[in-house]
Amino acid sequence: MSGPGPVLVLGGTTEGRTLATELVAAAVPVVSSLAGRVSAPRLPPGAVRVGGFGGSEGLAEYLADHRISAVVDATHPFAARITANANAACARTGTPLLVLRRAPWTAAERDRWTIVSSLPSAATELDRYDADARVLLTVGRQGVDAFALASQQLWLRSVDPPDAPLPARTELIRDRGPFTIDGELLLLRRLSIDVLVTKNSGGSMTAAKLAAARQLGLPVIVVARPPLPPGVRVVDDVPTALNWLTSS
Ligand code: NAP
Repeated sequence: MSGPGPVLVLGGTTEGRTLATELVAAAVPVVSSLAGRVSAPRLPPGAVRVGGFGGSEGLAEYLADHRISAVVDATHPFAARITANANAACARTGTPLLVLRRAPWTAAERDRWTIVSSLPSAATELDRYDADARVLLTVGRQGVDAFALASQQLWLRSVDPPDAPLPARTELIRDRGPFTIDGELLLLRRLSIDVLVTKNSGGSMTAAKLAAARQLGLPVIVVARPPLPPGVRVVDDVPTALNWLTSS
């Protein structure tokens, strides 16, 4: 590690929280950073700071001011801006950077997935469905805008409501994982869902919907992850990240 200060964990995910917990247990100084989007976040142990840094320049200043020894970018796979900023800020300050990203979900036999590259492409894909199709969106509250022109009945499941009003014909289901297959089957049946739209977030907390859709033979529109900055070092689990931090 370079500077003598704490490890900065860019969080907002289960992996970020777990890594902070392990670092605190190992008496490694750590600061977790949260964007501050969720109204009642599950806080990790140890020091926590909340809010943006002010772009890659602001983050580079933070790294230098706090003499950060290493950065672990444990943000969500779809949080592309902070990942790009962390890459640029670490390059500028010579701070070691590791990206901790859970593995993506992969289609199993009998899955009826259509993989698309963005939320707008997912909305375009929905045009292939009848106007009376019933759609469950699990794309996060920031993703719902892409579906503003959809003609179908939509349900958006998210932890918090979107900042802007919901698009027409959209209902909100406020809920937070972990979800079970039985619970997801109940929901899909109760709402008579015809198609599920999801980002490929990966991880076990929200994977049950995919198993439930498979059991019911439902199609799923899956938004692929944005690409990572080229050349960045990536691991997909907390023990490997811990090993990198404690052996470098
Ligand atoms: P984003 O588009 O990559 O980031 C937008 C801006 O938010 C960044 O430029 C940065 O502001 C600030 N930011 C993001 N993560 C931060 C962090 N951990 N600490 C401090 N500032 C942060 O990210 P997003 O998609 O809005 O997601 C925001 C946060 O929610 C992420 O930390 C992510 O882990 C979590 N999250 C996202 C999703 C998702 O689907 N996108 C799902 C679950 C959790 P400045 O430029 O001012 O530094």
